[in-house]
Amino acid sequence: MKIVVDMNLCESHGQCVFAAPGVFSFDDEDTLVYEANPDDAARETVARAATVCPVRAITITPDAP
Ligand code: SF4
Repeated sequence: MKIVVDMNLCESHGQCVFAAPGVFSFDDEDTLVYEANPDDAARETVARAATVCPVRAITITPDAP
């Protein structure tokens, strides 16, 4: 699974950080940072993060079979 966050859209609301704290977080300057290739075990929480993002900035690409 690959995650891309469109940082031009992201407004640092932080809903993704609450939904998937192991994948998304804020750095010292309150800029979103994230694991671009998280383990598949995080699939459900990452999907939830993408759903709750109010500006739909998170795109998830599944691994090729
Ligand atoms: S929920 Fe969306 S807008 Fe908010 S920090 Fe995450 S990616 Fe950015």
